[in-house]
This record gives sequence, structure tokens and C-alpha cells, in this order.
Amino acid sequence: METPAPKPNLLDLDLAACAALVAALGFKAFHGRNLFKWIHKHGIIDYDRMTDCPKGLRAALDSAVTLGLPRIIHTQPSADGTIKWVMELDDGQRVETVYIPEDGRSTLCVSSQVGCALNCAFCATARQGFNRNLRVSEIVGQVWHATRQRGVAPTNVVMMGMGEPLANFEAVVTAMAVMQDDLAYNLSKYRVTLSTSGIVPNIYRLREVCDVSLAVSLHAPNNPLRDELVPINRKYPLEELLPACRAYLAADQRRKITWEYVMLDGINDSLQHAKQLIRLLEGTPSKLNLIPFNPFPGSGFAATPPERLAVFRERLMRSGLLVFTRKTRGDEIAAACGQLVGRVDDRTRRGTHPIPVAMPQLGLASR
Ligand code: SAH
Repeated sequence: METPAPKPNLLDLDLAACAALVAALGFKAFHGRNLFKWIHKHGIIDYDRMTDCPKGLRAALDSAVTLGLPRIIHTQPSADGTIKWVMELDDGQRVETVYIPEDGRSTLCVSSQVGCALNCAFCATARQGFNRNLRVSEIVGQVWHATRQRGVAPTNVVMMGMGEPLANFEAVVTAMAVMQDDLAYNLSKYRVTLSTSGIVPNIYRLREVCDVSLAVSLHAPNNPLRDELVPINRKYPLEELLPACRAYLAADQRRKITWEYVMLDGINDSLQHAKQLIRLLEGTPSKLNLIPFNPFPGSGFAATPPERLAVFRERLMRSGLLVFTRKTRGDEIAAACGQLVGRVDDRTRRGTHPIPVAMPQLGLASR
């Protein structure tokens, strides 16, 4: 006997697909739009509470689809207001989502994969290796939960959590469309940012299918160093990355590329590197974010001391570059850049959250 196809999950659908599904069940498409709005804008996933949903449709949905969300298994608040949620997926895998409140805005840092395959030298997520891509429902589900938890949608979403978003292209693009939909989270195109380590062909593809801000993890101003720090550079070197970024911007003169540059003591933080960086970014509308390195056990790197970081920054600014130093947020709960590993930290859990959670296997034999 054939096994029946798994039921579609409503949370995997964008607005058009939701409307099409409802139409396929024999109901008017506008009921699909209402359904989408109930789920995302109002956070209601119980058909009985969707007051304008016809009884017949509720029954049809009950038998035809599921409504699956990740499950928050751990909430870790930090003294600076940052909150890290560990979310568990259907198959027991875990990802992390970080909420960062700031004056007048709130940024949600969303994961796109369980683990990551790109093996950047200084990133804790890399040490886990790659496990799998997240589904649309598992990406949007992070935004759904954060919105319910905070009572209001975040003002900004950055695809800067675990994983390489351009390596999970279709799901990430659909999820970002849901984030931008005014029947859902209604985020403007300047308030959804995708961060990539530089998968060049997919930067070109991205530009064809959506309109979001682009951040690129640069971390080195020349190929030999970037080959070491961000190994995807061996496949897509700087002379291919930069034109792809400029092409991405061509559609919108108001945009800039946000370059992320993690400051590693004695590795990429000399004045020589600053000069190379200035030359590299010449002619590309840019904003440079210097990120203090967030250490983790066994990383083998140290953070550039603040005084040297200031000198580096000063040199860049003198050239006219727009440079910011990213404030490290949530580092004491391991929620800062490059520290996300989908793990519930035993030290902070003790006493407050009595759920027994096994530590996932950390590290691949190859590293
Ligand atoms: N894979 C995507 C999305 C991750 S974004 C990308 O590479 O852009 C997370 C950002 O934090 C990236 O810029 C990453 O390079 C940076 N990062 C990784 N490990 C870090 C660490 N230990 N300290 C500071 N930043 C780190």
C-alpha cells in the first residue's frame, strides 16, 4: 500500500499559495487571505477562533492540512534586554533566534539552517557542521513566536542566525516574502536584511526574486586571507563577489551593501588591512560594520583590543567610508554573532528551567 503524501503545513505557504490552497478546497480565495492574516497578523492558529472562517472550510482544513510551528523549549533573557529563544523542530533539531531591543526599534535575528556547511574559521555554528535546511514554516515560525512573545512584530529582521541563508534559497525567499506581506508582519524592504558569506550566483538570483537589504560577511580585504577565514571565497573570490554586490545594488540607488568585518587580533586588523579595505570597497556604496570577535571555547582567535579597533576604524572613516562598530549584545547568554549553536546552556538553565535537555553533539570529527 502506498503511504499517503504528508499534509501540507499552512505555515509553509506565502499568501498566494494559501489562497490557492483554499480555492483548491472549493472555497473563495479571499478566505485564504483571511486565513493567512489570522495566522500571521493575529497569531491565531485555532480555526474555531477565526470568526469569519466558514464551518465547512474549518472541517476541510482539518483534514487537508496541518499547522506546524517550532516549539520554544528555552527562553534566555540577558541583562541588556536581548532574549535568546532555543526552538525545537519536529525532528528534535534545535535552532536559535535572538531578539535585540534598541531605542525605538527591535531586531530579530533569525536562523535559516540547522548548523552550517561553510566552515568559517571563527564561527561557533560552523563547528557543528551542517545538519539540514529549515523549512519556510520553521523560519517564519521564529518570527511568529517572537511576535507572540513580545505582543508586537519586530521592526527589523536580519537573516543572521544559524546557517547560510543563500544556501537555503527558496525557503528563505518565501519566508522573507511572508515577513514583508502587509497581511502578515508588514516589514518594509529596508527592514529585512539577508546576510551571506558570498554565494555569488545566488546574489544574482536574489535580485531577480525579491527586494531586501543585503549584508555580506567580508572579514578580509584580500583573497589569501579571506580564503582562510571564509573558505567559500576559494569558490567565489573577491573579484566575483564585488561585482555581484554592485549588480545587486543597481536596482535601488538608495541601498548600500552592509559589510560585516569581524575584528580578529593580529589577523585582519592592521593599518595595511584598512588600506586594502578602502581600495576594495571604492566605487561600491557601502556601510562597514566592524564586529568585535565573540570568543567561544577552542576558537583559536582573540578579539582586537578596543584601542586598536578604534585606530582601524578611524583610518577607514578618514577615507570617507561609513563605519560602525557593532555593539555586542547578549554575549553572556551566548546569543552574540557567531555564538549560536542551538544549545541550551546548562549554567544559565539551572534552577530556572527544569526541562531536562540533552546537549547536542558539538563538533565534527574533521575539525
Ligand atoms: N552565514 C551568513 C549568516 C550568518 S550572519 C553569513 O555568513 O553572513 C552572522 C555574522 O556573524 C556573520 O557576519 C559572521 O561572519 C559573524 N560571526 C561569526 N562568528 C563570529 C564570532 N565568533 N564573533 C563575531 N562575529 C561572528
